[in-house]
Amino acid sequence: MFLIFGLRSKDTIVGSRLGVCEVCGATAAQTMVRRTTKFSLFFVPLFPVRAARYFVTCTNCGRSRGAAREELAAV
Ligand SMILES: [Zn+2]
Repeated sequence: MFLIFGLRSKDTIVGSRLGVCEVCGATAAQTMVRRTTKFSLFFVPLFPVRAARYFVTCTNCGRSRGAAREELAAV
């Protein structure tokens, strides 16, 4: 018998808003993404192994930066 296990990351778009990008300086939609990492067994995600992380991606230049969870309140 053998086990297939590993970690799986999943990105979920939680919202977007118009804002000024810190990278390109343009005013464009900023998409907020929540990334969760789960332990999986036989390709079935079972439980999260770390706290969710948040990223903001600029739709103009495509660059991402880390974001604090508190920024969700402003979306
Ligand atoms: Zn940008």
